Amino acid sequence: MIDRRFFLRRAAALASLGSLGLVACGGGGGGGADDGNAADLPTGTSTLPDSTTLATAPANPKARVIVIGGGMAGATVAKYLRLWGDAVDVTLVERLPVYTSCIMSSLVLTGQRSLASLDYNHDQLRSRYGLKTVFDEVVAIDPVAPSVTLASGTVLRADRIVMAPGIDFDAVPGLGDPLLMPHAWKAGAQTSQLASQLAAMPAGGTAVLTIPKAPYRCPPGPYERACLLADWLRVNKPGSKLIVLDANPGIVTEVDNFSRAFFDLHGGVIEYRSNVVIDHVDTATRTLHTDTGALRADVVNLIPPQRAAALAASSGLVNDATGRFAKVDVLSYASTAAPKVHVIGDASATTQPKAGHIANQEAKVCADALVRLFGGGSPDAAPVTTSACYSTITMSEASWLHSLFQYDAASASMLPVASATGASAGWDRRSFREMDEWFTALMADTFA
Ligand SMILES: Cc1cc2nc3c(=O)[nH]c(=O)nc-3n(C[C@H](O)[C@H](O)[C@H](O)COP(=O)(O)OP(=O)(O)OC[C@H]3O[C@@H](n4cnc5c(N)ncnc54)[C@H](O)[C@@H]3O)c2cc1C
Repeated sequence: MIDRRFFLRRAAALASLGSLGLVACGGGGGGGADDGNAADLPTGTSTLPDSTTLATAPANPKARVIVIGGGMAGATVAKYLRLWGDAVDVTLVERLPVYTSCIMSSLVLTGQRSLASLDYNHDQLRSRYGLKTVFDEVVAIDPVAPSVTLASGTVLRADRIVMAPGIDFDAVPGLGDPLLMPHAWKAGAQTSQLASQLAAMPAGGTAVLTIPKAPYRCPPGPYERACLLADWLRVNKPGSKLIVLDANPGIVTEVDNFSRAFFDLHGGVIEYRSNVVIDHVDTATRTLHTDTGALRADVVNLIPPQRAAALAASSGLVNDATGRFAKVDVLSYASTAAPKVHVIGDASATTQPKAGHIANQEAKVCADALVRLFGGGSPDAAPVTTSACYSTITMSEASWLHSLFQYDAASASMLPVASATGASAGWDRRSFREMDEWFTALMADTFA
């Protein structure tokens, strides 16, 4: 267990641009990173270039990188390749001109945030760092002589591709129109739809939230959403129930806090059932057919099993043991199937959680490795990553969870550092406020 002061000091250090850079870009290895003091971190990259000198793309690029996906991982790697990469030409390809953050999006369901408050664009990345943006769908890549084919027919060539396309969902038998049982697990139209369905639910009604088998995007996310909704239902829909159907054998993370919240604090609203797998659904009667029987509800928040986004599979990069995600060398995030293609964020298979903060960190390790490789060197042999996460336990209180990972050469994986990994004992209002500060800092580091 780590204490609050450690966590806040760590979070503050990681929230600043310079320290974020230092953690991921630890030229001397991550030796100083697990004592919580940013001043002890390696200092080799402490002087960042003035961003005005980076505002235009390089005339004679040293190397060209195409980044696919402008979300948490892709936006970060594009920015830091320009910040750290002397004359690296970066083109970011993203299908949508506006990115809507999943982080904080459960608060849209309770009316505490608007969806628009979670919108980010790539304008500042372009104007401050001189990277190019192309808004189009990538339909194919050539991973060997790296090139990217867009839906428009344009073919872009590069020395390396960084793929950060996030996740896609398994199809649910019977669910023709996903808006009828929205997952709201990619923020956008489904989030608004679920909010409307909840608002229209009668008092004394039944809502169901399903949790897929791990690994899935944001391990604490479904549990914190359940807590938030339970608090909201208690006040706004008296007498209602929230049935949580978890495909996992038990709560997958922050077990102490979520157990207390589910069985004690929200015990009158939440009914938790583990080991329940959805087989198919009937949208006309709003019925879920599971391996333990059928269940009818007024509102169904159906979060299906997840896999790397379709492009990763169609590019031949999905090769982990689950057959769902892309295996990578975590020193550089190079795909083990195609060494000139790097896969970061939720699409990759690593020992780290699928989370926005970790996506930001993986992006920095990847950017640092590419810059070293373009300079004729090798990736840092001892990268460190970190992840902070706040969970809404009520509409005004949060708990927190922090992990720090360090490269382990024996297993060639990122392992948690026990002395710097832990969760809060309980929840409070201050953590709820700090969640906003953490989010603002993370999004600024990613998109500005
Ligand atoms: C409700 C909820 C709450 C969460 N809370 C937290 C939290 O508190 N803390 C935390 O750290 N994480 C949280 N997360 C997880 C976080 O949102 C994800 O882990 C993070 O977004 C992953 O980043 P990514 O870059 O891999 O994917 P994304 O952010 O999804 O970005 C992928 C991008 O790739 C683009 N793309 C995909 N395919 C193509 C293509 N073929 N061509 C062009 N563009 C393409 C997409 O349009 C998208 O913009 C939460 C998630 C949810 C759902």
